[in-house]
Amino acid sequence: MPSIEKHVEISRQRTGKEYLELHEWIDKDPEKKVERHDIMKIYEYGQMMQDKYGPEGLQEYLRHIHDDFIARFNHVKEDVDKAIADTLAYFGVKSPK
Ligand SMILES: [Zn+2]
Repeated sequence: MPSIEKHVEISRQRTGKEYLELHEWIDKDPEKKVERHDIMKIYEYGQMMQDKYGPEGLQEYLRHIHDDFIARFNHVKEDVDKAIADTLAYFGVKSPK
């Protein structure tokens, strides 16, 4: 998943602001990190972010959850692609790539 620094950089490019406190709140506490990335909590935490940082902060919170998900998804996709390529090679089938 992207580092806090990477999330801050993305926010800065998108909004001109870092939203460091917001990204640290989501990522920094190891005991609460999973809960704070839980999409079932998006309405509860989204309201909190909206109240505290306004609509732009809400957007940066949602974007953080989104960017983490895409990073995880891409990692899983790479693993599956490699497993398929390895299996095809094992059985002597030429990879379609
Ligand atoms: Zn995160």
